[in-house]
Amino acid sequence: MVGTGYVGLVSGACFSELGLDVTCVDSDKDKIDTLLDGRLPIYEPGLDRLVTDNVKAGRLHFTNDLSTAVIGAKAIFIAVGTPSRRGDGHADLSYVYAAAEEIAKNADEGAIVVTKSTVPVGTGSQIKKRISVIRNDELEVAANPEFLREGSAINDFMYPDRVIIGVESIRAEGIMNDVYSFLSLNKTPVVMTSLETAEMIKYASNTFLATKITFINEFSDLCEKTGADINDVALGIGLDDRIGRKFLNAGPGFGGSCFPKDTRALVQTARDYKSPITLVEQVISINEQRKMDMVSKIIESCGGSVLSKRITILGLTFKPNTDDVRDAPSLVIIPELIKVGASISVYDPKGMSEAHMYIDNVSWNDDPYSAIDGADGVVILTEWDEFKSLDLDKMKRLVNTPLIIDLRNMFRPDDIFKKGFDYVSIGRSSVYGANKNRL
Ligand code: NAD
Repeated sequence: MVGTGYVGLVSGACFSELGLDVTCVDSDKDKIDTLLDGRLPIYEPGLDRLVTDNVKAGRLHFTNDLSTAVIGAKAIFIAVGTPSRRGDGHADLSYVYAAAEEIAKNADEGAIVVTKSTVPVGTGSQIKKRISVIRNDELEVAANPEFLREGSAINDFMYPDRVIIGVESIRAEGIMNDVYSFLSLNKTPVVMTSLETAEMIKYASNTFLATKITFINEFSDLCEKTGADINDVALGIGLDDRIGRKFLNAGPGFGGSCFPKDTRALVQTARDYKSPITLVEQVISINEQRKMDMVSKIIESCGGSVLSKRITILGLTFKPNTDDVRDAPSLVIIPELIKVGASISVYDPKGMSEAHMYIDNVSWNDDPYSAIDGADGVVILTEWDEFKSLDLDKMKRLVNTPLIIDLRNMFRPDDIFKKGFDYVSIGRSSVYGANKNRL
């Protein structure tokens, strides 16, 4: 498994749990040292036990040395990052190609090179070309995009809705079926298809989900203006099987390490092929604007200005149960609030050390109550379970102004009103908005 990040480490640990002998490779020495030291470089629920058990069982190994790790490997997965290329939004494939070329120099004859990273259509065939420059015997190439979600990654890997595999030969199909033989136990559907189609499925899937989130976010604005309630609208449409309930939670805009970069990359691919997908172009710009709209909402809720006000942000990660803050709405909303004079105090259960790399000029807190102390407004940016059980009486004693701005609709308005807070949420009529006397 080349690349030992959220996808590589989880996939490697799960494959080893299923009985395969796995070596996870990463070029980041600190990451591998951390793992060799018995610690995890990322937070993912349940992963520590899985890694410890399988290391102990002798099925899971870690190294920085790709050249020796691939020797004897039947299948070599590439799970390195594919971030946005600076400037134009294309996927940056330099890590993928660097890994593929290194693999080509050392892999055994007959090994299969599988992309697990999210890569634009055509990448598999590019990898083949690059390999053929390095060696005469062709390595098999396959595409096996990953669909796990951070926060529930182990379960998603072990019990996927489906597995997508793109291959170009019966032999490659056979090897991939062997690697994934555990799927037959749960009768998991496997879509065996071409390289190009497998690559395209991943982008179609992620851009569809990003569109679904954007759809409900735009409806939430309309609900606020019309007196409808977005939570009930989402429920009402989601109960229709053709629509489905997932990804219909209105919020501050999608973020994370996948949707923002994957929507951008798909748009670029489509433009390159002169077949633009303008719907997704629109989704990207609506989502960018969404984060700015949330800034305005916070300012309005604070009476029109946050100048010299202390605003507490609860939740920095793009979603709960992960420490990942990449492209999280917090990274836009916090600096914008600082620009207009707010003093920001933050707390996140798992994302604090990651967030330190992206956010400056805020006060960092080890618990939610110290973050809330003296606040003129408390903003919920990530719906961590920990926030659901906050002691509202204690909060009320600590804050300067009793105002909760809930950008995830985590709370029931009545529960908050009862405790004497003003409460602003999204996509609900003014009845559920901030206390009318205050606004
Ligand atoms: P990550 O940044 O957490 O991990 C990538 C790792 O690859 C890093 O540790 C990096 O040091 C390592 N790496 C880079 N070049 C290398 C090389 N040449 N040799 C060895 N290691 C190298 O990224 P991630 O979140 O795990 O995502 C990996 C891929 O999977 C991306 O394409 C992403 O879009 C896709 N994906 C991610 C998720 C998710 O939830 N994070 C879900 C599905 C798919």
